[in-house]
Amino acid sequence: MEHINSKIIALIGGGPAALLMMKNIINSPLKPAEIYIFEKNDRLGVGMPYGKFGSNGEHVANVSANELPEFSCTFEDYLSQYPTDLFPDFSIGGNFNKYQVIPRLLLGDYMEFQFYIYIKQAKKSGTKVHIYKNCPVQDIVPFNNNEQFKILTDGHKEITVDSVILCTGHHWPKKYEDTVSGWFDSPYPPSKFAAATNFPIAIRGSSLTAIDAVKTISRLNGKYEVKQDGQLKYTVNTDAQDFRIDLFSTGGFLPALRFHSEDAAYSDEWTMSLEEIYEHKEKYGFVDLNYVFDINFKLPLKKKDPEFYASIQDLDLEGFVDKMMSIRKELDTFQLFKAEYTEAEKSIKRHQSVSWKEALSAFSYAMNYPAKHFSAEDMLRLRQTLLPLISIIIASLPQSSYKEIIALYDAGIIDLIQVDKASFVEPHSESGAVYHYESADKEKFEKHYQLFVDAIGQQPLEVSDLPFEGLKSNELISGAYLNFKSDVTAAGLIRNKDLPIVKGASDNYFLNVHGLEINDHFQSLTKYGETVNNLFIMAVPFIGGLNPDYSGLDFCDTAAGRIVKVL
Ligand SMILES: Cc1cc2nc3c(=O)[nH]c(=O)nc-3n(C[C@H](O)[C@H](O)[C@H](O)COP(=O)(O)OP(=O)(O)OC[C@H]3O[C@@H](n4cnc5c(N)ncnc54)[C@H](O)[C@@H]3O)c2cc1C
Repeated sequence: MEHINSKIIALIGGGPAALLMMKNIINSPLKPAEIYIFEKNDRLGVGMPYGKFGSNGEHVANVSANELPEFSCTFEDYLSQYPTDLFPDFSIGGNFNKYQVIPRLLLGDYMEFQFYIYIKQAKKSGTKVHIYKNCPVQDIVPFNNNEQFKILTDGHKEITVDSVILCTGHHWPKKYEDTVSGWFDSPYPPSKFAAATNFPIAIRGSSLTAIDAVKTISRLNGKYEVKQDGQLKYTVNTDAQDFRIDLFSTGGFLPALRFHSEDAAYSDEWTMSLEEIYEHKEKYGFVDLNYVFDINFKLPLKKKDPEFYASIQDLDLEGFVDKMMSIRKELDTFQLFKAEYTEAEKSIKRHQSVSWKEALSAFSYAMNYPAKHFSAEDMLRLRQTLLPLISIIIASLPQSSYKEIIALYDAGIIDLIQVDKASFVEPHSESGAVYHYESADKEKFEKHYQLFVDAIGQQPLEVSDLPFEGLKSNELISGAYLNFKSDVTAAGLIRNKDLPIVKGASDNYFLNVHGLEINDHFQSLTKYGETVNNLFIMAVPFIGGLNPDYSGLDFCDTAAGRIVKVL
């Protein structure tokens, strides 16, 4: 039954999250009277990673066409309508392969195209759509008993809406970038690296963000060529003979490679439903991480790969992580990287997944829903044990990026230095940074680099970072906290100053998990736990505290679906 809803909805930010909101609105019975889309830059759909603010031609997504959320026009149909000359593998006659990862700029073009299709469809069904591009929203002010909001924009426009969905996405705060030459607080936009660097450079981090920086900077100092055996060779330019890259990492690992995965991740089947979550919570006060690990990881694994399951069935979460990490630690980083490539190639050729990795990725995704209902103790366990392993596995590094890293390694250009957790970087008085660290064999170093890139990835943001004063001063948002199961445990842990634990009025304890407090439908919660019915938060850095695997197009799709259900 078609349902006419007179609501006026504002999407703050017009990137992929807003695109997936549009998709889910169009595919639902909801027919808002008006939708306002505010985008601070000049394009819809591309967001930060898929346009010039996050990519150059060399940057690839870690998803292929068959893994994209379902859109009304498929990627293949889009390509047949708008063939590209820029990316040979995707040009006409280029033998389109739905399993091949997509260049990020091309994916951005597709998502922009798809955005306008949804706008057209919304208009056709009677919704007025107002598009404000180059229009940063400056404030969101509730009024009429919080029933409505005024959206204040850069152009001093003031627009009244009934519901607000924050889709403001990634944010890369600058610390020293504008004041210290040779210091970069993130690798974005990549166009900021414009000159050759005939000296060693330091990159903090070794996962996808770091690889983005490596791809751009290596091209400024040399070139990649395909050898006869199909492998890549990197040759450094004659005027950049002193160029080198040191990657610094506390874990000491490079990201795991993409392997063949089943088209439909089997997470749905094994994800806890909201009813189950609430039932569990009612009975035990919290959702138990051990239980979630058993039903969302071990059970699917048992079905998928009984042999592997047999080798871990008696292990608890800590035991499993220890086992998988110790296998990784036995090998030198680049040896392990090469071994994982061989495993991934086999998986792709045979169209067979690496089941434990697939199960872990599905588990990581499925865990987003119960995680809001964990005890603080379980959230700490998760962060200290499983998340470091998960973050390596779900990175899903494309094979083409692997080949570049290995070409740099073979040319003696790149190294990975494992550092202690107390290591730190500070600006150098003339240029770049000084890296202070203790190596894996306990030797202390202070190394100066003329160029430093911080590439540890998107960091969580807090209430104080939200740029919308009206939401803060009217207390419609609050920081995300979890309760401790045992106050005795919390009282012991609070002595560890690194843990953000606070003591409540009735001598109870909470863990600040970063970001904003939201419910299962992404509605904001006040500090008194009241739901703000018409304010939804989808902005990546603000929701990671309660959604450990919060990033990615799939996640935007699921989140948008949940929002539409209550809109
Ligand atoms: C470098 C990088 C690569 C990634 N690659 C992949 C990948 O390959 N596959 C995958 O699934 N996920 C990937 N991700 C994860 C990523 O989080 C999502 O794919 C997606 O970009 C999230 O979309 P978003 O709309 O939430 O955020 P964003 O892409 O950041 O978009 C937010 C939009 O809001 C706008 N905006 C911000 N503030 C305002 C304001 N005040 N007023 C108006 N507009 C505003 C911004 O200009 C931007 O257009 C990647 C992330 C990064 C950082």
